[in-house]
Amino acid sequence: MADAIVVLNAGSSSIKFSLFLARGAELALDVRGQIEGLYTAPRFVAKGRDGAQRSEKSWPPGTKLGHDAALRHLLDFLQTELADDRLVGVGHRVVHGALDFREPVRMDAAAIAQLEKLVPLAPLHQPHNLAPIRALLAAAPELPQVACFDTSFHRTNPEIAQRFALPAELHEAGVRRYGFHGLSYEYIASVLPQYDAEAASGRTVALHLGNGASMCALAGGRSVASTMGFTAVDGLPMGTRTGALDPGVILYLMDERGMDARAVERLIYNESGLLGVSGISSDMRTLLGSDDPRAQLAIDLYCYRIRRELGSLAAALGGLDAIVFTAGIGENSPAIRARVCRDAAWLGVELDAAANAQGGPRISAAGSRVAVWSIPTNEELMIARHTRRVIGKAGARG
Ligand code: AMP
Repeated sequence: MADAIVVLNAGSSSIKFSLFLARGAELALDVRGQIEGLYTAPRFVAKGRDGAQRSEKSWPPGTKLGHDAALRHLLDFLQTELADDRLVGVGHRVVHGALDFREPVRMDAAAIAQLEKLVPLAPLHQPHNLAPIRALLAAAPELPQVACFDTSFHRTNPEIAQRFALPAELHEAGVRRYGFHGLSYEYIASVLPQYDAEAASGRTVALHLGNGASMCALAGGRSVASTMGFTAVDGLPMGTRTGALDPGVILYLMDERGMDARAVERLIYNESGLLGVSGISSDMRTLLGSDDPRAQLAIDLYCYRIRRELGSLAAALGGLDAIVFTAGIGENSPAIRARVCRDAAWLGVELDAAANAQGGPRISAAGSRVAVWSIPTNEELMIARHTRRVIGKAGARG
């Protein structure tokens, strides 16, 4: 019998989950999976640590399976999966903790109410993140739940890095740069000493290049700047998000094209980025495999923006000792890593082509002034660790 921690990551059309078992001081992944296609073509799949399928279910297309029903299915599955193991807590990924939530926190009705006030800061993510917390609190009030925030890790940013050049009153009201993907960067910072002690104590830029994408400047393992700002639409172009956009474009679209806030929201979150530029796909693999010039343009723009942001973050750090690639594209695409490194030659980056092709982890040449790494991220493990720590010695003795 082991103590078990479930990690939930609830989005607009999917709920992802991971089940960890406490083995001494370690947390070992036991099973992970998701229900995706909520409200359209729901499908549940769960896989063991070895990748072998443990359970699967598809609902007929058009089934209006929503978040609550999906959560129930998930909990039923986990109940049978747990057998003799004891569920001691649930950790949740929550996109926005603003200034109030600087670290993971145990959830109760008051904390949920406080987090609901942040919905306007992340309208596309926050409501879905909070829904399972509320549902579980009602169904199992004794079950400890911990919220872990994508913004918390960046609260070490100096004031100046969090500031927009807006009137002070807006800054005081919370209109500032928060930064996101913090759980991914925190994980990378936590394992970097095992790979490269010098980078861990020095100046590193981590690139989280997934469907969402951002970059973070780490000084001695602490976040000092990042490319995302008030919302997770800032910075790099992403699968479907614009990244940084002159705010004047939005005024133009509203005044001259008659677009309202919702139409602009759709444009900048869902219809832009790799998808918008290529007109083909938001998926980097598809674009890399295409010989359509529009796919090439989307990749060129993506790499160009990374090149510019890398210079900016190196400037914020006052130099650069290491680069770390992570997330779907960062971990799996030698082609994108090679382009980014080639563009960063001026910073002292020299790639080892063979190591890059093999996936690393170290992919820089022996003489490279800047070390380059490809390191898999693990936000779920970070959440499980936080959850175990917060619910504490009481619930999760290993
Ligand atoms: P994530 O959000 O971290 O799951 O990352 C998703 C992105 O990673 C998508 O754009 C995928 O196309 C991309 N990706 C995954 N594997 C590869 C690969 N082998 N080569 C290029 N891109 C990849």
